[in-house]
Amino acid sequence: MVPGTRLLILGKQGAGKGTQAVRLARHYAIPHISTGDMFRAAVRSGSEFGRKARKFMDAGELVPDDVVIGLVQERLRENDARYRGFILDGFPRTVLQAEALDDMLPDPGIELVLDLEVPTDIVLRRLASRRVCVECGTNYSLENPPTDPETCDVCGGKVVQREDDTVSAIRRRLELYEEQTAPLIAWYMKKDKLVTVDGVGHPDKVNERLIRAIDRRLRRGVEA
Ligand code: AMP
Repeated sequence: MVPGTRLLILGKQGAGKGTQAVRLARHYAIPHISTGDMFRAAVRSGSEFGRKARKFMDAGELVPDDVVIGLVQERLRENDARYRGFILDGFPRTVLQAEALDDMLPDPGIELVLDLEVPTDIVLRRLASRRVCVECGTNYSLENPPTDPETCDVCGGKVVQREDDTVSAIRRRLELYEEQTAPLIAWYMKKDKLVTVDGVGHPDKVNERLIRAIDRRLRRGVEA
């Protein structure tokens, strides 16, 4: 992959974006930038900012655009993101955020947008069984728990169900996804930046599909 490549992953909650973004970041040696992880870290720190974000998160609502945009802008100014590129996960979630992102980046902006496609009934099942490490954010599920069900295999942190993985918050997040985030699929398609990848199946298989799709598209860019 060309150094400095800027990727973005879209998909419903529970589509596997976080899991796949971590793997892709490792594979391509680029930073993984997850706004959800950044907000969860702020909540854990107990800061005023974290307390404010938590109210939106627990209700399954979106944190206001100006707050998220400011946070991402600051992160993208750091050297690793500027020189090595990145994979964005959980941002943008609205057209306004996508426009702001375009303004933050030098040409050609985001190079490739991956739409991880999973039917709603499958994401609902995955969300109900999802468990996460509060320290490092590693995702587990009831089907694939860590060796000790309450302790993270990666860092030894506590493994819990996310506060916002309740039935009402999940329903609200999926509603917001359809209303606010799904329009980004057409938005990026029009810019010829979108690749749709089937997100159903074992994470290893989904990962192979994503890498194949990324390499194919980025090669096309280099050869053009
Ligand atoms: P996630 O882990 O990506 O599902 O994000 C968890 C929660 O953080 C979301 O339900 C929102 O409350 C908040 N959040 C994360 N990213 C954004 C964003 N780009 N815009 C608004 N809120 C966000």
